[in-house]
Amino acid sequence: MLVDQRYFETLHNGYGQYFDVSEVLFEQTTESWQLVIFDNPQFGRVMALDGIIQTTERDEFIYHEMLTHTPLLAHGNAKSVLIIGGGDGGMLREVVKHQNVEHITMVEIDNAVVEMCKTHLPNHSAGSYDDPRVNLVIDDGAAFVNNTKQRFDVIISDCTDPVGPGEVLFSSDFYAGCKSCLNEGGIFVAQNGVAFMQIDEVTTTKARLASYFNDTNFYCAAVPTYIGGVMTFAWACDNQELRKTPLELIEQRYQAAQLNTRYYTPAIHFASFALPRFVEQAIATTPVQQR
Ligand code: SAM
Repeated sequence: MLVDQRYFETLHNGYGQYFDVSEVLFEQTTESWQLVIFDNPQFGRVMALDGIIQTTERDEFIYHEMLTHTPLLAHGNAKSVLIIGGGDGGMLREVVKHQNVEHITMVEIDNAVVEMCKTHLPNHSAGSYDDPRVNLVIDDGAAFVNNTKQRFDVIISDCTDPVGPGEVLFSSDFYAGCKSCLNEGGIFVAQNGVAFMQIDEVTTTKARLASYFNDTNFYCAAVPTYIGGVMTFAWACDNQELRKTPLELIEQRYQAAQLNTRYYTPAIHFASFALPRFVEQAIATTPVQQR
């Protein structure tokens, strides 16, 4: 919410962050959401959707590298990748770095977000939409996974928080669709909120995912502008070994892929699956939600 040259995030009741706004670059209110991009002295260009910080130029690399390279290097032979959401283009930029990936489909519900981010957040996509392997589909992600005939080795859900159009991307129906369009040994990952502030998002996702996949767990990283502690990323796969890929193998794959990263390292990949005790306990006591 913009007030006197300051943007106040309104995600949490009674707690939040603000950003000094040196310039509003874009503002659009549609029937489904209020979107704004502004310049901030600390974080560069910032995009917010309905009062929730989506991404900033300065710290987006942490989030996009961890949600891309962790599943892709754990899988080791991904040829087809699906990104759900991701309208700012940062996830796509990281996925196209993997030269062995042959097909990349990105399903984003609002083309206006894609176009606006190409203009005002050009370093996020950094030309990745022009990669010949990329197929951009403007659709609801849940509808897409439940209707597509395509199959994928890795699915990355890079959506907004579970409110409004993003809510369906935390539903059992969506997870069922993802399971049905994953190849054998495929991996599903998703942004799953900041556990200290949104532990319900973790337990709800665990309960729902566990009825479709043999191995459902979480990994984490601290992203400064996703306030309140480490962000958790949901992990789901039927091959329980992939989450425990040995550090030496991750290192070999990282070197072979010749990735240029600023946060992700094989050691951080391996360590990111170590969760705070309160998160482990919340997950351990979550019953599987029956289909
Ligand atoms: N990194 C951000 C975060 O962690 O909150 C999210 C990045 S991106 C801005 C989120 C994208 O999800 C937006 O572009 C939004 O349009 C898209 N989105 C929301 N609901 C969707 C749906 N049901 N299907 C496809 N895309 C959706």
